[in-house]
Amino acid sequence: MKVVRTVLDFRGLRDLLAPTTSIGFVSTMGGLHEGHVSLIRRSAVENRFTIVSIFVNPAQFAPGEDLSAYPRTEASDLSKCNAAGADVVFAPVGDEVYPSNFGTYVTTAVGNPACNPCSEGASRPTFFRGVATVLIKLFSLVRPHRTYFGQKDAQQCAVVRQLVRDLWLDMCLIVCPTVREADGLAMSSRNAYLTPMERQLAPVLFHALTAAQKECKEGVHNAEQLRLGVRTFLEREMENVKNVTFELIYVSICDCDTMKELEGDLKDPSRALICTTAMLGKTRLLDNVVLIPVHK
Ligand code: AMP
Repeated sequence: MKVVRTVLDFRGLRDLLAPTTSIGFVSTMGGLHEGHVSLIRRSAVENRFTIVSIFVNPAQFAPGEDLSAYPRTEASDLSKCNAAGADVVFAPVGDEVYPSNFGTYVTTAVGNPACNPCSEGASRPTFFRGVATVLIKLFSLVRPHRTYFGQKDAQQCAVVRQLVRDLWLDMCLIVCPTVREADGLAMSSRNAYLTPMERQLAPVLFHALTAAQKECKEGVHNAEQLRLGVRTFLEREMENVKNVTFELIYVSICDCDTMKELEGDLKDPSRALICTTAMLGKTRLLDNVVLIPVHK
């Protein structure tokens, strides 16, 4: 496995790969766990070459967010990439990605707060602009045939889907299932911030979402009622917890492609995602499930 630090070196290496070869790409911010590894493994199975990027993207952090505290575990990340079958890791240093004369930012309608008033885009106004900008840069450098993203970040997947469609990107987006801990908590690099007490409580988000799935299966198809169900579940579970702060940021029921918030009776719950985000202590946790999973 090769580790490449500069755009110049990466270009040289990319040119060596025959244009017809299949290249799979997994972009990450490091702090790798089994969720990331599942994407790399899948890419390695489906492609001749697998390229992984590791870059903590400052453009998607607002002032006061956790940019400086974000887990940086490069040595163990590289060995996980190697074991999972990556051929190349692009881990740029310094100002390779955003030199001082950088001045182009990309926005998508999907990530815009106007599309969905309860979403990552609404609660972190510059977040998806930063995500879309770095991804377009990485896509144009890597020129992958397939790119692998996790369902855990469903809104990010919708942003990528729109980028690929609107900008005629010649690649296929493959969305992979959320990998969870044994107790249901969605794996996330940010889980490393949780105190032992917070870690015990963290699966509550997944439990609230699965309770909504159950309600839906039992015949509740009204978006307002389902959203309220999740809020009430979380309030009830967290109300007697001492010494840990919990702040629910949003509960969204939205179309799985467009991320538009859905109202009233749901026409097709198998196309509806239920997403929630909360602050548990100082850690931002997010999770989502399809309301009625369709097993393939
Ligand atoms: P990040 O390093 O957080 O930018 O994530 C890099 C990629 O890994 C994104 O496509 C994420 O959606 C994906 N990912 C993160 N956590 C998980 C998980 N628990 N299961 C599956 N994919 C994940």
